[in-house]
Amino acid sequence: MKSQDIRSQFLSFFEDKKHSIVPSAPMVLKDDPTLMFVNSGMAPFKEYFLGNAQPKNNRIADTQKCLRVSGKHNDLEEVGYDTYHHTLFEMLGNWSFGDYFKKEAIAWAWELLTEVYGIDKDILYVTVFEGSEEDKLPMDTEAYDLWKQFITEDRILKGNKKDNFWEMGDQGPCGPCSEIHVDIRSAEEKAKISGKELVNKDHPQVVEIWNLVFMQYNRKANGSLESLPDKHIDTGMGFERLCMVLQGVQSNYDTDVFTPIIREIETITHKKYGNPDASGEKVDVAIRVISDHVRAVAFSIADGQLPSNTGAGYVIRRILRRAVRYGFTFLDKKEPFIYRLVDVLSDKMGSAFPELKAQKQLVENVIKEEEQSFLRTLDQGLVLLNRIVEETKGTTISGEKAFELYDTYGFPIDLTALILSEKGLNLDEKGFNEELQKQKNRSRAASEMSTEDWTILVDDKEEEFVGYDRLEAKVKLTRYRKVVSKKDGEMYQMVFNLTPFYPEGGGQVGDKGYLEDSHGDVVYILDTKKENNVIIHFAKNLPKHINESFQAVVDAKQRYRTECNHTATHLLHQALREILGTHVEQKGSAVHSKNLRFDFSHFSKLTNEELQDVENFVNARIAGKLPLEEMRNVPKEEAIAEGAMSLFGEKYGDTVRAIRFGKSIELCGGTHVKNTSDIWHFKIISEGAVAAGIRRIEAITNDAVKDFYAENNRLYLEMKELLNNAQEPVKALQSLQEENTSLKKQIEALLKDKAKNIIGELKNELQDINGIQFLAKKLDLDASGIKDVCFDLGSNADNLFLLFATESEGKALLTCYISKELVASKGLNAGQVVRELGKYIQGGGGGQPFFATAGGKNPSGINEALEAAKAYLI
Ligand code: ATP
Ligand code: MG
Repeated sequence: MKSQDIRSQFLSFFEDKKHSIVPSAPMVLKDDPTLMFVNSGMAPFKEYFLGNAQPKNNRIADTQKCLRVSGKHNDLEEVGYDTYHHTLFEMLGNWSFGDYFKKEAIAWAWELLTEVYGIDKDILYVTVFEGSEEDKLPMDTEAYDLWKQFITEDRILKGNKKDNFWEMGDQGPCGPCSEIHVDIRSAEEKAKISGKELVNKDHPQVVEIWNLVFMQYNRKANGSLESLPDKHIDTGMGFERLCMVLQGVQSNYDTDVFTPIIREIETITHKKYGNPDASGEKVDVAIRVISDHVRAVAFSIADGQLPSNTGAGYVIRRILRRAVRYGFTFLDKKEPFIYRLVDVLSDKMGSAFPELKAQKQLVENVIKEEEQSFLRTLDQGLVLLNRIVEETKGTTISGEKAFELYDTYGFPIDLTALILSEKGLNLDEKGFNEELQKQKNRSRAASEMSTEDWTILVDDKEEEFVGYDRLEAKVKLTRYRKVVSKKDGEMYQMVFNLTPFYPEGGGQVGDKGYLEDSHGDVVYILDTKKENNVIIHFAKNLPKHINESFQAVVDAKQRYRTECNHTATHLLHQALREILGTHVEQKGSAVHSKNLRFDFSHFSKLTNEELQDVENFVNARIAGKLPLEEMRNVPKEEAIAEGAMSLFGEKYGDTVRAIRFGKSIELCGGTHVKNTSDIWHFKIISEGAVAAGIRRIEAITNDAVKDFYAENNRLYLEMKELLNNAQEPVKALQSLQEENTSLKKQIEALLKDKAKNIIGELKNELQDINGIQFLAKKLDLDASGIKDVCFDLGSNADNLFLLFATESEGKALLTCYISKELVASKGLNAGQVVRELGKYIQGGGGGQPFFATAGGKNPSGINEALEAAKAYLI
């Protein structure tokens, strides 16, 4: 059975059981601070499990893109070495939110696997929770008794808390689970040892395929459990593992999910997958790593998460680099090639995940550029490593040096180890690991945080947002909690029955403002964010009278400026599509009160004319006084038919809010000016590249533009004054520049002359020491003058040893020249001389054996350095 059919059969099975089928959510969650990536099918539904929102249908099924590369679930290091863990994988799941429970979940799982997919029940095992003394929980006999109806008792195994009790995080909904395992070994293998012994023992052919979680408890901050009022079902089945079983193969990589990618890698690299000889093993691992990682990286980019230097983007960059490294080391690929796999990938997966097909070109470009830049890093790293090797006495490279190479230059440690072992050297792995641990401890300490349970004042889960219409409202606090973190110290998070505060989202910053009670006590709201569908207000302290009503007041000035920037962002988006073309797609935006930032797909730098056109286009719409037309709660299809674009990587409900200004129409939850004329003026401040094929524009509006022009004018006047109030300041500046250039030339010529004169004098100063012509002296010349002197003197002699020093702007420079003949006959080395004498001037340097320089920050050490030079001749 083809993988595509396996996927669609799953979905239609649950559709028949009255489930709504929903598309996979994007992999990067926007309003869940505890998760960097979706790592299980339930993550996008957390708001339902927490009771913060109600689904339209309390039965849902889908296939969810999951990424397990960070945090609690991190399989990255396994990937490639085993045959059934991936970074990105699809999790097929069915959910009940307070609807059906164990009975149906178990019966349907069994029906689907054995009847629909026709899996032989003799290869299946199931597990149930054995209970936990620590949590005072009994064994899950309910599940046990249900399974008994379908499977013989010797195939029902009891499992501990680690395997059979599922928790979302340190706090929150959790419950016992039942896993379904398959044993796909040959009869011969089975005869040797029973599958029962191998369940949950990391055997590659006895693996878990489906986990049925019975959410019935809530874990509180103090670690205790309470029963949930509503019980839920959360199941997750690994799609690639299911394909392995149904396609009768022994590895996920032998299913049609992976084979087309693997064939392509074979074609590109001329390496064979599945070669039985010993050298083939590394090749196989590398091919598995690359075929896995290209999926993770491509899907992330398609979901709007580009590789970068921080956060989720950094994780993606590291995954891609891992793939490049395996290609570089084991497949001899020294040039970019991973981007070439995107074609087959989008061909295979594009119908189930259209975002991949739609953005193929962008994904390819970004991957290619990332590959190129990492390959450059590898090249530089090799040079640095060689230098470290040269400088090392003995056969062991220190852990500190290797860590510096890894941490500062991004050079992978396993590559360092490999290269060293090829050279017959050792790496101090212990030292390296210590450095790594130190760094981890530092970043852990920085991100440590403790969160208390919510204190509920009013049991009211409905929290109305009134901030589209009002900036003030009478509110009541419904719950609050304290959060302590290194970064922000002690903070209170508050939730109200209703709120005018806009929570950060859709690129727009969260509102600031204050609360005031009837006694005149004020609490400042420092930020507003949405977390799992709840609007949370951040403050340094709690109000004094928490049970009273407050006047909640949004900082109107900040909000207004932010709105100007948000509306301008829409107009900018429209302008770019009109002027550059409809290939322009929004790839990110940040709307603040001070400025706006807009990232979009486009392949070349914008010309000055294009930028001017864009500015003019936006300003024309500001001058056109276009009114805001807001459509709340319109069906998504309707808004799209009107011309609104949906963005990849955004999660939309069935009904959406659409914002129109003239012909600009967007799906948007943000706040806007009532009329474009409120913006006053729009000005682009910068344009540049963020990644391959992604440009960024930064712009300002309103007061910020006024300030900008005022500041420019001030600078202009100041400059004019410096130019003696010339009538034509530009011309005056040009003639100054010309004069400067010609003066520089004159100085250079003078210095050259001076050097020539000096040479005559220096020749007379040469001392003969043991047959070597020696001179160590401080000169009043620049670096290039000294170089000329050295080579000039050197051209007529074969036994020179020169050390010159010079001082300029508080820095010292040492230059050493040794005739090549001396280098050969006496084993002298100018590089070594400057490195060693560099210590006197607190600096370092290097070069070739016959010519080298060192710079330092301590000119007062020059004399000592010059005096020490003689020692090399004796
Ligand atoms: P395992 O013990 O095999 O790592 P798990 O206990 O981490 O699995 P769950 O968190 O219960 O798995 O996830 C549900 C299902 O998702 C698993 O039964 C498995 O089929 C699949 N799955 C989990 N992790 C991966 C992965 N890294 N790659 C592919 N499939 C996975
Ligand atoms: Mg796991």
